[in-house]
Amino acid sequence: MSLKIAFDNSYAALPARFYARLSPEPVPAPGLVRLNHALAEELGLDAQALAGPEGLAMFSGNALPEGAAPLAQAYAGHQFGGFVPQLGDGRALLLGEVIDRGGRRRDIQLKGSGRTPFSRSGDGRAWIGPVLREYVVSEAMHALGVPTTRALAAVTTGDWVYRETRLPGAVLTRVASSHIRVGTFQYFAVRGDLDALRRLYAHARDRHFPQADDPLEFLRAAVAAQARLVAQWMALGFIHGVMNTDNCHVGGETLDYGPCAFMDAYHPHRVFSSIDRHGRYAYSSQPEIAVWNLAQLASCLLPLMDMGEEEAVGAATEVVHAFPALFQEAWLDRFRAKLGLAGAQEGDRALIEALLDIMARQGADFTRSFRGLADGRARDAFAGPEAFDNWAEDWRARLAQEGGSPEAPRTITALRAANPAFIPRNHRIEAAIGAAVSGDFTPFHRLCDVLARPYEDQPGAEDLKAPPAPEEQVTQTFCGT
Ligand code: AMP
Ligand code: MG
Repeated sequence: MSLKIAFDNSYAALPARFYARLSPEPVPAPGLVRLNHALAEELGLDAQALAGPEGLAMFSGNALPEGAAPLAQAYAGHQFGGFVPQLGDGRALLLGEVIDRGGRRRDIQLKGSGRTPFSRSGDGRAWIGPVLREYVVSEAMHALGVPTTRALAAVTTGDWVYRETRLPGAVLTRVASSHIRVGTFQYFAVRGDLDALRRLYAHARDRHFPQADDPLEFLRAAVAAQARLVAQWMALGFIHGVMNTDNCHVGGETLDYGPCAFMDAYHPHRVFSSIDRHGRYAYSSQPEIAVWNLAQLASCLLPLMDMGEEEAVGAATEVVHAFPALFQEAWLDRFRAKLGLAGAQEGDRALIEALLDIMARQGADFTRSFRGLADGRARDAFAGPEAFDNWAEDWRARLAQEGGSPEAPRTITALRAANPAFIPRNHRIEAAIGAAVSGDFTPFHRLCDVLARPYEDQPGAEDLKAPPAPEEQVTQTFCGT
């Protein structure tokens, strides 16, 4: 292959028990669905070459560029609270790492590339549904300004994948600042492998929090990153859906887009995932679950702390317990911005909660309610707009205190920058997947194009702004393997 990628693989230099080395399984008839040119440029890759036959060969796993060192990473994880000592990449392979134009180390990973020693009973494959879903949602997340793994390419394989029915196979090429999860730490902690834990810690620290001098500072940075991340999710009405520790990225990127969803009608207890029967990962539970996951990370790091056990437990507990305050601060910042407020005042939380409360009682559309604040159409999102009107008087008074108003250009600019016009709405994703299964990728491409600029009103894309009609509502999302 003449396609040149300047791989610089550091994970592959870790001891052999961190992963299994193997090549992707070839596929019969690959076809390029979409290449992320902007991301390719950012990574310093030759987008032109990636769009051609050699790129297709790499993205499908049929051939590897020189310097790739494909491997499936080992990790463990708490799934819905139950510990599984061995999970690992069952359908993914890390091809290698590159240093991007900004000097940052980035993983390039194939997802859906065939069986690995971690596949258990799985086929190691993905169908186009979850691949397109992750492409759309992760790229939208990025455009919305939220730390996330990215999508470099989606390809079809020309093969069938068997789920409930026969479905077209696909592979996603995912890019991330690393694929180190809380579960990666757990994998070695449960085995009592201190040497591996030390190496993993050093590796993760260098990649994510190089300023951290010791494991406690590393934990502090991870807690802060997670608090900021979850506050951003909350401010967009995003529900991750499977916040298992194996899906919790230590660097604070949104990772693993399974049964995730952006809410349409707001309700704090909203759950989408078909497998989340007890609502463990409901919208409003996400901050608590993040704490729970971080406590797992903390306990893995304890043996690395240079102090007595009791002291280490005390110090780590204090760091994890800082989460609620950090989260609240980040949450307030985000929602203040969503109300167009520049400064901070005592009653701001109550003002925000009052709006959310009306939205919840009326099932108002989350995105439309907030975006409507910028164009004077928020009240249209409410079935009983009088309640909103009453609230809006308080809001107007609060804005006036800092010289703003719902009509002031400065306030409107701030509102538009904090409240997207477009989110990846479930019914649109489902429709795009349905069309793709029948061979029409136009709706998928249109979604990607519009969601690349979610804060801009885009004439001609009004239909993608609209909440679902009752018959279009998606009430459940699926794990999507
Ligand atoms: P997830 O629920 O997507 O986070 O995946 C949980 C675990 O199941 C991970 O170890 C995955 O690698 C594995 N897994 C999910 N889907 C498949 C599949 N189709 N084949 C093999 N392993 C899979
Ligand atoms: Mg996962």
